[in-house]
Amino acid sequence: MFKIELKPESGSAEKHEIIIIGSGPAGLTAGIYAVRGGADAIIIAGYASGGQLMLTTEVENYPGFPEPILGPELMKRMRAQAERLGVKIIDKDATGINLLTRPFEVNVEDIKYVADAVILAMGASARELGLPSEQKFKGKGVSYCAVCDGMFFKGTDVAIVGGGDTAVEDAIYMSNIARNVYVIHRRDKLRAQAVMQRRAFSRQNIKFIWNSEVVEILGDKKVNGVKIRNKLTNEETTLNVDGVFVDIGHVPNTSLVKGQIELTDAGYIKLYGETGTSIRGVFAAGDIADHVYRQAVTAAGSGAKAALDALRYLDELKEQRNEQ
Ligand code: NAP
Repeated sequence: MFKIELKPESGSAEKHEIIIIGSGPAGLTAGIYAVRGGADAIIIAGYASGGQLMLTTEVENYPGFPEPILGPELMKRMRAQAERLGVKIIDKDATGINLLTRPFEVNVEDIKYVADAVILAMGASARELGLPSEQKFKGKGVSYCAVCDGMFFKGTDVAIVGGGDTAVEDAIYMSNIARNVYVIHRRDKLRAQAVMQRRAFSRQNIKFIWNSEVVEILGDKKVNGVKIRNKLTNEETTLNVDGVFVDIGHVPNTSLVKGQIELTDAGYIKLYGETGTSIRGVFAAGDIADHVYRQAVTAAGSGAKAALDALRYLDELKEQRNEQ
């Protein structure tokens, strides 16, 4: 079992009942439910607030929107809803989290926030290929977000690495901007939803390179190609492209809590029950604890559950304190 070491309570700090870290669908929904449940809750939103939906185009699977809605617009509305209901939102990154003390502490630069309950909703970030040449050409032709950087590759040839929804969505998006889009996938079947696959297969300028992996990103000052290895034949070829979009999934953003809280083998927050963690009073919601569903609507749902669980925990804590 995970060992919890308690340290003495700290000095001056801004106190709230619930601190929510993260402002994607999970964090904002947790905020909405927390304040509607009568708690004093703040959200540490991060400088890049809004989560992964800020990097997407049209969302057509979030219920309530019969017509597609842009990801950033959906997040703007969720945030406005949370703020209208009274959630305080801090648009800065959490720089430190201490879950081994009570109340829990969250540092944002030199300001310390403390609370009896914390909801971890920091989400996940793009996974990297792990190539030295990838590091060298980051921002010089290597990108993790077609919506953010796509326009830099107007009329050029680009490669997209991956075979999931993100890769296929980015391929479709880039097919309207670039001349040719090469999707390089390590297998001969896409993982993406059937509807997206059909859309991509019907585009003349999207070409698929199957059973292949990128072994090196080539270039001088900027990317000018990729070296690809066919996994079946081991043959290596060079493909001339001006940009490479790496869309191979995500890794959970747990660096601030690693070593304090139990994680799964894959590095996600380990859940006990629906949103509980190895530390009582600390809850997790959204992609930081979910490697299976990872949808805006499931993240929002788990944010609601985490807030309801946190409210119940706070009630129990109040009862215990009254009894003492
Ligand atoms: P994902 O579903 O995990 O797919 C990652 C893809 O990258 C897979 O095809 C995987 O190959 C490949 N891959 C993983 N590691 C690799 C490596 N080291 N080298 C080469 N290829 C590698 O990730 P995602 O596409 O980012 O999607 C994440 C979640 O968001 C999913 O649940 C997805 O449904 C959701 N999403 C939904 C939408 C939408 O509904 N519009 C849009 C975007 C994302 P294998 O297939 O061989 O494993």
